[in-house]
Amino acid sequence: MPELPEVETMVRGIRPFVEGREILSVGRCRCAYRPILIEPSAAAITRRAKRCTIDSVRRIAKRVVLELSNGDAFAVEPRMTGLMLVTDPPDRTHLRYEWKLGPAATSRRNSTAGMSLYFWDRRGLGTIRLYRDGSIHQELGPPKLGLDALAVTAADWRAACDKTQRAIKVAMLDQKFIAGIGNLYASEILHLAGIHPESPARDLTDDAIAKMSAATTRVLETAIKYEGSTLGDGTYRNALNQDGGYQNEHRVYAREGELCPTCNSGLVERFVQTQRSTFFCPTCQRLGESCRVD
Ligand SMILES: [Zn+2]
Repeated sequence: MPELPEVETMVRGIRPFVEGREILSVGRCRCAYRPILIEPSAAAITRRAKRCTIDSVRRIAKRVVLELSNGDAFAVEPRMTGLMLVTDPPDRTHLRYEWKLGPAATSRRNSTAGMSLYFWDRRGLGTIRLYRDGSIHQELGPPKLGLDALAVTAADWRAACDKTQRAIKVAMLDQKFIAGIGNLYASEILHLAGIHPESPARDLTDDAIAKMSAATTRVLETAIKYEGSTLGDGTYRNALNQDGGYQNEHRVYAREGELCPTCNSGLVERFVQTQRSTFFCPTCQRLGESCRVD
């Protein structure tokens, strides 16, 4: 958390405010906690980025990317608790980084006034990197990062699954396998597709793969529409410091012991796979049913 839908919500939230604005200054906020990882040095970032314009804001997997007019790009990875904000933060003590921006070139929002874009991070595991001269495409593309979960086809899923013997839920969390899915949405996608999380990826039938591909698109796009999931700890907020709404749509995630809303007969179960909680319905998702028998 945040996963693809939350990061996409951040991108869409900040885009209309910051695109087309000039960077006046960048730097760490005064913060009493252990500093987050920022590369390269503050002086090098200032030398490269100051007076550049933010040409576009986009998402690469679970990172917010600010593309600059000189070909450089900031990649901000929120990891566990990071947020990109264009408004007052949840608190000022966990503000980590500030981009001071000049008036907008176009007459969109607050165009005549300057503004600040902030990175806020409670746990401080997030990272900020400035990539020079288009190098972001090599550093954050295949083979270092898999295809984006919103761009993959059933054929791409088949090709990725054929390369691994791991359980499908475990493989889905590997960003080199498919990029953008994390622990929460992996459980929701497999539930919607009717696939048991321990099914070996390589053994899934073509029919199961087709269902998983469709479920991925549906779950992620619906979650984006709801602006992501704000869990019980309340950490995740959109760019305007408001809750997401998809937590109310979860079918299995963190619903252990509850009646499955899909079949209305099974009870949602939780177990641990590679140190992460997996949630599923034993009635809708039977082990072996989605797998090829040789
Ligand atoms: Zn069920």
